[in-house]
Amino acid sequence: MYIVGIGPGELGYLSQKAFCVLRSCEVIIGYRAYVKLLGDLVQGKEVIASSMGKELVRAETAIEQALSGRKVALISSGDSGIYGMAGVVLEIVEKRSINLDLEIIPGIPAFCAAASSLGAPIMNDFALISLSDILTPWEIIERRLTYACQGDFVIVLYNPKSKKRTWQISKTQALLLKYRSGQTPVGIVRNAKRGKEKVILTTLDRMLDYSIDMLTTIIVGNSSTSLSDRYMVTPRGYKIRVDAKDRLPEEFAYSLKKC
Ligand code: SAH
Repeated sequence: MYIVGIGPGELGYLSQKAFCVLRSCEVIIGYRAYVKLLGDLVQGKEVIASSMGKELVRAETAIEQALSGRKVALISSGDSGIYGMAGVVLEIVEKRSINLDLEIIPGIPAFCAAASSLGAPIMNDFALISLSDILTPWEIIERRLTYACQGDFVIVLYNPKSKKRTWQISKTQALLLKYRSGQTPVGIVRNAKRGKEKVILTTLDRMLDYSIDMLTTIIVGNSSTSLSDRYMVTPRGYKIRVDAKDRLPEEFAYSLKKC
């Protein structure tokens, strides 16, 4: 059995390894919207697709299918080890002492896809926090947000808002504003690296002016993140000279002459 991270969505971002594994499997199991992203890759295979929130059922079905001797791929968007299917499968396998030949294939997570569309906002230490309080109590999420602010981490927000969970994102903005300036750069990316991508560069003060949903990743800068009309960049600390556009650094000039 394989647990496959399929990346953000566009098939060009699926790894070669994931591609080969998916091609070789007889059964593909996953959340309906993610199976759809695979397009023709699932042709001729048995597809077991289910709705959101059915993670336990998907994991159990995949394990059953694999134990019956079939070659199974259970898919996750992004990477399966980041709020994905890998954890739940391993928990079941460990708790029930199931002996299964299992391999986890990593994928490009949404936060990397989103960051690359915004510029380079995660060039320094960061905290990735899901605002979903379905499996994690809100008090814990709030505590994590607070510590991430105090540590001046760049903060990536997943699961920011759904049809049912609407207040969490406003509470988060209010909490962040206690620690960070309203001018702090914020990047909002919907459908990163899949069809209909939408990229917004804005500030902490104004982030709620834009539509945010479950297909959105939000990246909040730290105290040194900068914003232009093109890019959001968090510096690592290099000293960049602005007056040296035409001059090569000494060591490059030397090696060029030698060539
Ligand atoms: N396993 C995934 C995360 C699943 S949690 C990963 O490795 O990235 C689901 C959340 O991820 C969504 O609510 C959204 O915040 C984010 N997300 C997933 N795909 C995305 C995409 N293509 N564009 C923007 N955000 C995305």
